[in-house]
Amino acid sequence: MPTDRRRRATAIADLLQSFEAYLVEHRDCAGLAGGILEVTASGARWGVAWLSCAECGLRWERRLALNGAP
Ligand SMILES: [Zn+2]
Repeated sequence: MPTDRRRRATAIADLLQSFEAYLVEHRDCAGLAGGILEVTASGARWGVAWLSCAECGLRWERRLALNGAP
């Protein structure tokens, strides 16, 4: 459905924005890892952005509903 697709695009863009904020801060660090993925949980699709920095001991994760969730 178009509404779901728009909602998904908005959520992914939102995740990407917060992901990039962390990425810029830690891009020179050793042991940086992260990504954006989609998972199904509790009958809904979720976009998950995560980033971990071994050097700073950071482990960040954020998830947003893509569709089928309130
Ligand atoms: Zn770092």
